[in-house]
Amino acid sequence: MPATQAAPSAAHLAPYISFETPACVRRVLGSGEEKIKVKGFDDLMVFRARCCSPIRGEKIVGYVTRGKGVSVHSATCPNVVNLLYDPERRIEVEWDKSDAVARYTVKLTMEVEDRKGLLAAVSAKIAGINTNIKNMEARTGEDKNARIDVTIEISDLKHLEKVIKSLRGVEGVLGVERAGRAG
Ligand SMILES: [Zn+2]
Repeated sequence: MPATQAAPSAAHLAPYISFETPACVRRVLGSGEEKIKVKGFDDLMVFRARCCSPIRGEKIVGYVTRGKGVSVHSATCPNVVNLLYDPERRIEVEWDKSDAVARYTVKLTMEVEDRKGLLAAVSAKIAGINTNIKNMEARTGEDKNARIDVTIEISDLKHLEKVIKSLRGVEGVLGVERAGRAG
């Protein structure tokens, strides 16, 4: 795709943008990546930044990388602060409003009371709201509490919030956090 197809408003970004898809980027593209649109461009590579792996429904910010397309971060990602050092490479991105069901893998870390049956209760709760569990691990912490790491498949932010909310309602669950995120 020649760079001349870029919208005039985004023309200053042209030197940073490669319209060829590098193989290394193509490989990381999954079903979720095409759900992001870059304003002013039809045919631009986008990928979800690994530091925060934003999911549909979350507020997102795009950043034009050299030769690798646009990395998309959650607006709450700590790395977004660093992007301000080079503000002209920021680009507006938005979730595509297509009906296609997206699947995102999200890891949750839970602090729980160390007692029997809790792992079963947690997995039953997750299954009860039609959510796939890809992996689940429990370990005893340094204090009296235990930790459960659970990796689930969710379709968007609403779905994730629903899962987190119901897990917080399980007796013995003291806290639920999305791994790699503050709060
Ligand atoms: Zn990020």
